[in-house]
Amino acid sequence: MFEVRGFAAPQAKAPLVPFTVPRRDVGPHDVHIEILYSGICHSDLHQAHNDWGNSIYPMVPGHEIVGRVKAVGSAVKKFKVGDYAGVGCMVDSCRECESCKRDLEQYCLNHTSFTYNGTEQDRSTPTYGGYSTDVVVEERFVVKVSEKLDLKAVAPLLCAGITTYSPLRHWNVGPGQKVGVVGLGGLGHMGVKFAKAMGAHVTMITTSASKGADAKRLGADAVLLSTDAEAMKAAAASFDFLLNTVPVSHDLNPYINLLKLDGTMVLVGVLTPIDGMIGGALMLPRRTIAGSAIGGMAETQEMMDFCAEHGIVSDIELVDMASINETFVRLTKNDVRYRFVIDMATMPG
Ligand SMILES: [Zn+2]
Ligand SMILES: [Zn+2]
Repeated sequence: MFEVRGFAAPQAKAPLVPFTVPRRDVGPHDVHIEILYSGICHSDLHQAHNDWGNSIYPMVPGHEIVGRVKAVGSAVKKFKVGDYAGVGCMVDSCRECESCKRDLEQYCLNHTSFTYNGTEQDRSTPTYGGYSTDVVVEERFVVKVSEKLDLKAVAPLLCAGITTYSPLRHWNVGPGQKVGVVGLGGLGHMGVKFAKAMGAHVTMITTSASKGADAKRLGADAVLLSTDAEAMKAAAASFDFLLNTVPVSHDLNPYINLLKLDGTMVLVGVLTPIDGMIGGALMLPRRTIAGSAIGGMAETQEMMDFCAEHGIVSDIELVDMASINETFVRLTKNDVRYRFVIDMATMPG
C-alpha cells in the first residue's frame, strides 16, 4: 500500500477537504496512473451529499479520470509507462458472469466495483475515485487514450461520453435516421456530437431557446422547443430515436408522442420513479421506452477510438482542486458549459 493526495467528503453535506488516499501496490495485472485531469459528474455531487442514501464516507469522488501511466504490472500487455490512459465509472467486476462474458461489466450479475463510493471484489475494501493524484486499476478497466485529443477535454468521455455513445450504438443510430436529444447538459451535449458523427439528422429538444442555439454550435441540425405546443404537434411521430438525458422525473408523454412507429426513447439521466405514462401512447403506434447505463470496457475503448477518429471531446471548464466546494455550488445552479474538469496539477501539496 502507498498513500497519495486527494480530496474527500468526510460526511454528507460537509465540504470536501484534503484527504490521504490509500492505493494498493501495483499487482501483476495493474496499471498505476498519474491522474492529470478528473471530470466532475453530477453524480459526484449527489453521492457526496448522500442524495441517494447509499453513500460511504470518507468519499473521494471522481469517475472521469485521464492520466499518464506511471508503472505497469509484470503481466500487463496493453500499456507501457508514459501512455495516456483513462478510467471511468468501474474499476472491477466479477469477470465471470453472463454480463461480464459479454463485455457488459456495468451489468455484472455479481458485483460491479464502482470507481468510488463502492467496494472492491472483496465487497469490503472501499474504492476511492479520481479527485486524487494517482490511481491503481486492473488493466481490463483502463482504456487507451489517443495523444491526438485534448486530454483535459477527454476526461468527461469516461462517463458522460460512454453513457450517450452506448445507447446510440446499441440501437444502431446512423445515416437516414432522425434523432432527438432531450436536454442539453453534460450528457446531452455529448449525445448531439455523437449522433451527428454517426451520420444521423440531429434535433435538440429543449425548453430553452438559448440552449437550442448552443446545440446548433455543437452540431445539431435543428432545434425543437418542448414548450412550443404547435411545434411539438407538428413534430409528432417523426423521430426514429430519442436520447433522453433529463436527470429529474418529468412528463414523458410529450416525448413519446414524437416517436415514429418502432421508434425508441432511451432514458440515461433519470433514476427516480416516473409516473403518468400513457400506455395507449406506447401502443399506437408501436413504440419502445428503454434505459441504458454507461457502457462495457470494450465499448468504452471503441468510443475512445471513435473520438480520436472524429476529433470529438467534451466542452469543458478547467477548475482548481482547491475550488471544488465553490465548483459544486456552481454545479448545483447548472452554471456549467458543459463539464467541469479538475486540473490535478493544482492539488495542494
Ligand atoms: Zn458520471
Ligand atoms: Zn460479472
